[in-house]
Amino acid sequence: MDRVCSRCGCSSFHYNRSRMRMECDSCGTPVQDPQQDQQLMQYDRTYSQAMSHLTAGNWEQTIVLLRPLMSWYPTEKRLYVAVLRAATQDFRDIDMGNAANRATASEAWDKLIRLNGVTSEMLRYGRQRYEKHREELGKQRTKILAWIFAAASCSILAGILFGTECYFPAVLCTGGLAGCLYKAFSSHPVKVVKQLMSAVPNYQQNPFV
Ligand SMILES: [Zn+2]
Repeated sequence: MDRVCSRCGCSSFHYNRSRMRMECDSCGTPVQDPQQDQQLMQYDRTYSQAMSHLTAGNWEQTIVLLRPLMSWYPTEKRLYVAVLRAATQDFRDIDMGNAANRATASEAWDKLIRLNGVTSEMLRYGRQRYEKHREELGKQRTKILAWIFAAASCSILAGILFGTECYFPAVLCTGGLAGCLYKAFSSHPVKVVKQLMSAVPNYQQNPFV
């Protein structure tokens, strides 16, 4: 090869393993690598395009563009932050009903924990998601209590009716009692109570699992 060093004019080079690049034998100046420059330019352009899609609210396109970048540069935190923003519709989708988006968001969140890149925006989002979840648990608890109350009423009524020998309505009330109990227990009361009693979580934890 007829390459010469841009700094000293020397024409022999060696590979520096620790820096993973070709260097001039006499002064150590790195050899320009057009392929690497090309790759960096491709990265910058793709990232910038993904950011435009994110700004425009094209969540899916953003994720599609960022995926290959994540496999080329797996430690770039900003890629995972951007994917998380896209998957959560810029942290506005608290329910996360779409399973594919939830999986994508969960993956990005885990990477950011691992790379020590959890942002304040993420913590705020985690708290919102937790509060929403708690609100739903509260509603479920109210429902369970209502069914238990109905069951208790049915059993008292059934007792009175049996006592006054009104057998047919008494049997109906017993049926009602069974139905109410079934309804109460099919709402997983133990699980709901356990979750309500659990301590306030660490918002850094992945909220999608
Ligand atoms: Zn040189």
